[in-house]
Amino acid sequence: MKKIISLLILSLLLLTSCTKKEVESTYDKIVKRDLLIVGVKEDSKPFGYISNVTNEHEGFDIDIARYVAQDILGSERKIKFVRVTPDTRIEAITSGEVDMVIATMSVTPQRQYFIDFSTPYYVAGQTVMVKENSDIHTFSDLKDKTTIVLLGSTSEKNLRGIIPTARIIGYKNYDNAFQAYEEGVGDAISTDNTILAGYMLDHHGNRLLKNKISQEPYAIGIKQTDEDDKLRKSLNIIINRMHKDGTLKELKKKWHLK
Ligand code: GLU
Repeated sequence: MKKIISLLILSLLLLTSCTKKEVESTYDKIVKRDLLIVGVKEDSKPFGYISNVTNEHEGFDIDIARYVAQDILGSERKIKFVRVTPDTRIEAITSGEVDMVIATMSVTPQRQYFIDFSTPYYVAGQTVMVKENSDIHTFSDLKDKTTIVLLGSTSEKNLRGIIPTARIIGYKNYDNAFQAYEEGVGDAISTDNTILAGYMLDHHGNRLLKNKISQEPYAIGIKQTDEDDKLRKSLNIIINRMHKDGTLKELKKKWHLK
């Protein structure tokens, strides 16, 4: 009987060690593939956009992605960018379409239910952009106005919670949202101060409300599995180094961010 039990335990141990080996961590997948696949924005200047000069991805988030590729794979060119929007980011991660998302993505408890985050690398805040001559000066002025938001963003959720009577129109990407704003579809548009300020660099006649109604800590989103802890740990080391060696400070200067 003793022999049978020890044989059973042995085969169980062998079985679990085999299944464990079969599950490859995202970190190992990246190294094996020799390519980092990153979900980024293509319409959120100065964080992630396509340069109309070089036709390449550029921005603060893009530079962070290149730094990560350099660190893990020894070359910042070993990278493939996949476009994400606020409402596709989480699925892109959970489905394994991308290894990580670096796309102005704020850490929230709701999102942590589905994915993991690295330590934050930047802190933004939600505000509102209106036309210079608008009669909107505070968030409460939005109570009987129409505000454009991005579907699936924290801004949509925050605004619905803080000003429940505000009329809200949602768009899936910033190109469409900004176009609608220009065409006068809404009285205002609300998202992170960073993205609105980036838009204002090329589009005059707008202003931002002074107040911010949230703190938006941007971090790298990754798949939530035990195996992925290797990736999260190494991303945290990379970001902490970028904080310490002044890289993040330099990047803020490069992209005119506070
Ligand atoms: N950072 C906010 C978010 O993660 C809003 C900006 C955006 O997603 O584009 O939802």
